[in-house]
Amino acid sequence: MADGTVKQTNPFTGTEVWTVPGRAHRPIEHSPGRVTAVDPVVPEARCPFCVTRMLETTPEKARVVRDGDTWRVLEEVPAADLDATTPEFRLFGNLFEIVSLDYWRAVHGYRLPGRAAAHQAAYLSTPAGVAHVRALVRARIAAAQGDPAAVDAMDPAALAAHSESFFGGCHDVVVARRHLTDGATTSDRHASSGDLTPAEHEQFTAFTIRAMRSLYRDNPHARYVSVFQNWLAPAGASFDHLHKQLVAIDEIPAKTAREAAALEGDPDMYNRLGVDHAAAEQLVVAANEHAVAVVGVGHRYPALVVYSRSAASSPWEHSAAELRGVSDLLHACHAATGRLVPCNEEWHTRPPGVGDVAMPWRIVLKWRISTPAGFEGATGIFVNTVDPWTLRDRVVPRLVELRAAGRIAGMAVGAECGDVRGSLRYGR
Ligand SMILES: [Zn+2]
Repeated sequence: MADGTVKQTNPFTGTEVWTVPGRAHRPIEHSPGRVTAVDPVVPEARCPFCVTRMLETTPEKARVVRDGDTWRVLEEVPAADLDATTPEFRLFGNLFEIVSLDYWRAVHGYRLPGRAAAHQAAYLSTPAGVAHVRALVRARIAAAQGDPAAVDAMDPAALAAHSESFFGGCHDVVVARRHLTDGATTSDRHASSGDLTPAEHEQFTAFTIRAMRSLYRDNPHARYVSVFQNWLAPAGASFDHLHKQLVAIDEIPAKTAREAAALEGDPDMYNRLGVDHAAAEQLVVAANEHAVAVVGVGHRYPALVVYSRSAASSPWEHSAAELRGVSDLLHACHAATGRLVPCNEEWHTRPPGVGDVAMPWRIVLKWRISTPAGFEGATGIFVNTVDPWTLRDRVVPRLVELRAAGRIAGMAVGAECGDVRGSLRYGR
């Protein structure tokens, strides 16, 4: 508009977003609160996701351990062995599920998968396992204002009945090892996705995909598995400790279903409205052989979008090189965002039940730097403080610096990306 207001419409959803001049220079970094000194050699115990507090999370489903450049997955580590190796990433059930095991059981007749039942039986066959599970059941009952003393009297069968969701629930958490960056001497140096090395980020992504596939495999009633990452409290995180969540749900999200339906008549939609549109608006920020990152248009918050260029729709059908390509661009977007900006990382994937429709795997990284309020509720128009070109101009120079410093993988940045139009190969 004549005064510099930018009115955007999301080409996929129609969401209206206005960027008003003068609001773009407000600080976007989250205040870390009171900063205290930290002894970098003391093992971390800052939150329940820290490595010295593993008994505060539910029994571990799997962990990734590292030996030099070799990464291995260990399944179902017993309680007594949790400290025998150092987990780079851990997978376990969420103690407080969004969609509970009871819901799946009551609404769909879900039964604990055989693998989960066997894990539970093995875990409860050792005194350390029983003590761990008893403490968690007590914590959950106390949080629900119940009588925690009743847990002490539970026999093994009752304890098993009260702990099934720990082993066979459908809301999982993947936690990274560090709370603060290595060597941090102050409490505000929270280790974000961008603080991982590209190789660590690849493992984080691959391990999450593996967990996603397991949820689909173990729950035949799951229509969709939502994968997301909330970073810092303003983005919804309970702890300032890097983690992703996976939640199985029994519906295909309406927006996903609408996109799947639109694809029937417009199979090239993600090229046309995603990558080609970004290219026409000069909003491509990075690219490599297997993925492209653009500034999203018409999002409620400033957003970067990473599109996989793989012909495969499902993340687990990506080759190792394709997965690394997506991971590298996502990691770079996080690194350019910086650890002080609250953000949501949202994965969008093809639901298994939509027939032959191909969809690219895409990941949206949203900067949660404003709070929609009454104006948005009343009008459906979102006021966003950073317009797409301003976001591009913040991110592209940062990517160039990070690449020169060796902090992110090699990739084309900004104008180096060349002509990326039509480069998504999904379904081809
Ligand atoms: Zn922690």
